[in-house]
Amino acid sequence: MNDIASRLTAVRDRIAAACRAADRDPADVRLLPVSKTKPSELVRAAAAAGCDRFGENMVQEARRKARELADVPGLSWAIIGHLQTNKAKYLPEFAAEFQALDSLALATELDRRFAAAGRTLDVLIEVNSSGENSKFGLPPAEVPGFAAALHPFEALRVRGLMTIASRDRAARDFAETAALRDRLRGTDGLPGSYDELSMGMSGDFEEAIAHGATCVRVGTAIFGSRAARPV
Ligand SMILES: *Cc1c(COP(=O)(O)O)cnc(C)c1O
Repeated sequence: MNDIASRLTAVRDRIAAACRAADRDPADVRLLPVSKTKPSELVRAAAAAGCDRFGENMVQEARRKARELADVPGLSWAIIGHLQTNKAKYLPEFAAEFQALDSLALATELDRRFAAAGRTLDVLIEVNSSGENSKFGLPPAEVPGFAAALHPFEALRVRGLMTIASRDRAARDFAETAALRDRLRGTDGLPGSYDELSMGMSGDFEEAIAHGATCVRVGTAIFGSRAARPV
């Protein structure tokens, strides 16, 4: 087994163990490998080891890799980082999912671009559960109103919430985001399924699974550490 394959096995084992500990079905937790800053050849190795969707946080980089890996059957891409509205136009070419929705202007532009391309996009609303200024996403209190305003968007499939927890109070952030997701899922008439809860990264995904995560976004534990760069 190559490095990537053995690290993937280790991460999958940890996910399975966290699911057992939380009395959850591992089939209910999806692993989204995060390949940002890493070369396409490592993504190719991960695809060969059974991964079919990858998370990236920079549009140009994701587009380049999607082109470089166009020969890999069944590969799809998720943008997981903040997106400027003027870059929405690049997504229909390669993106299947966007996990950082945080403004109506962006939703409007994504909807327009995907509708024009005859495609749909799965979207998750990003919640700033930690309240840290350095993080993107909507404050939790604004999420219900925002969710209700997503009615007119026919090319967008609203699937749930995404959050990045604070380092020191991750359990609190995960619990609050999970409660918010449950509340939205139980709200009549809201557009979207709210079956997705994307939370947990290399350093905290076990705890996120304990709090109900359905998608964990794991970079470093699979692809190794990254050179510092603004994210
Ligand atoms: C980079 C990134 C990850 C992965 O982080 P690791 O700590 O390397 O696992 C997850 N989510 C988002 C939004 C990211 O930008």
